[in-house]
Amino acid sequence: MSNIAILAQETDAIIVGAGLWGCVVARELAEAGYRVLVLESRALPGGNARSAIDPKTGIECHCYGAHIFHTSDERVWEYANRFATFTDYRHSVLTKHKGKVYFMPLGLTLINAFYGTDLTPAEVPGFIAQEVAKAGLTGEPQNLEEQAISLIGRPLYEAFIKGYTQKQWNTDPKNLPAFIIRRLPVRANYNTSYFNDTHQGVPRDGYFAIFEKLLDHPNITLKCNVDYFSVREELPTDKPLFYSGAIDAYFNYCHGELPWRGLKFEWETLPVQDAQGTTVMNYADSDIPYTRIHEFKHFHPERKEIFTSNKTIICREYPADWKRGDIPYYPVNADTTAATLEKYQAEAAKCNNVIFGGRLGEYKYYDMDKIIARALDQVHAWLDSQPSK
Ligand code: UDP
Repeated sequence: MSNIAILAQETDAIIVGAGLWGCVVARELAEAGYRVLVLESRALPGGNARSAIDPKTGIECHCYGAHIFHTSDERVWEYANRFATFTDYRHSVLTKHKGKVYFMPLGLTLINAFYGTDLTPAEVPGFIAQEVAKAGLTGEPQNLEEQAISLIGRPLYEAFIKGYTQKQWNTDPKNLPAFIIRRLPVRANYNTSYFNDTHQGVPRDGYFAIFEKLLDHPNITLKCNVDYFSVREELPTDKPLFYSGAIDAYFNYCHGELPWRGLKFEWETLPVQDAQGTTVMNYADSDIPYTRIHEFKHFHPERKEIFTSNKTIICREYPADWKRGDIPYYPVNADTTAATLEKYQAEAAKCNNVIFGGRLGEYKYYDMDKIIARALDQVHAWLDSQPSK
């Protein structure tokens, strides 16, 4: 019997994946008195939200792209604050179109700069309505393009959404669902905060510290560098399994593969104090192959010595095709995948002792706060269904 199989025998529940979902589930089960074994295929916990300190510059880098914690859910905010202190960082995003820089999201700053107007907030709805009317769309928006045009009109769509979205998803925005663009606020004022949420920030001690704290409980055993599928046959089947790997992989791809969008990152350390003056600069135009450049030191101006040092790290983010074995980033929500997902959901519903969760386990475009909320709901529903311990 392998070491993992022995550990699994000695625990009350097995968790696959030490991303945010798996770590929250582990913590809640541990606090409820259950001994849990967490199996993580990577070398460290944290999933795609993990950060690491670059040893040469001291700059904390988000290993899989920028993550900003934002939520309007008081329960989630309170929960996250048990495991981290958040700075008062407010995320704003700039975007470059034809060599000129604008403030995202789609608000008065961007609209007036783009059209060369001096509109007041009261004039914005009428102005945008005129632009939308020119597009001649009728009925409910059927896809991302129609949704974007019906929100902001064609010129803004073509400048700031079309090229970026085409790059991001490698398909015409007409083939994408409308909900993706509803992630972005549209405003008639000069508020340039990227998110509308009540609470936001980045963890003062780094994302990696959150995961360490979540997992720091005597009832939790974390085993990294363990691929669930290579030990699956040895694991006891009578223990509850909280699974945050890919749902199609769990069922051996019996209904086909659920595709993902991938990303590639190009890192560079530069001998300057500040390379772009902001955390994230988007590149709206299709002739630039990357979608954005991150400059991570801007997340932490309070780390004064590092912030003012004459070194910085930038990271160009390139959307990429994905194949099995690559890191998955975004589920591809096309009509074709919806039918496949339904088949897997039906299989999952038949598995009594398995709870599927997280971006991979549910094949859903979740933000971090939604993952915490979902993990809490799922684990407590499960705990409520158990005889009390
Ligand atoms: N988007 C865009 N232009 C931008 C930023 C975003 O067209 O400058 C669109 C694009 O389709 C993207 C979606 O809005 O997939 C959601 O963007 P968000 O920043 O929420 O994506 P994430 O944070 O997940 O990378």
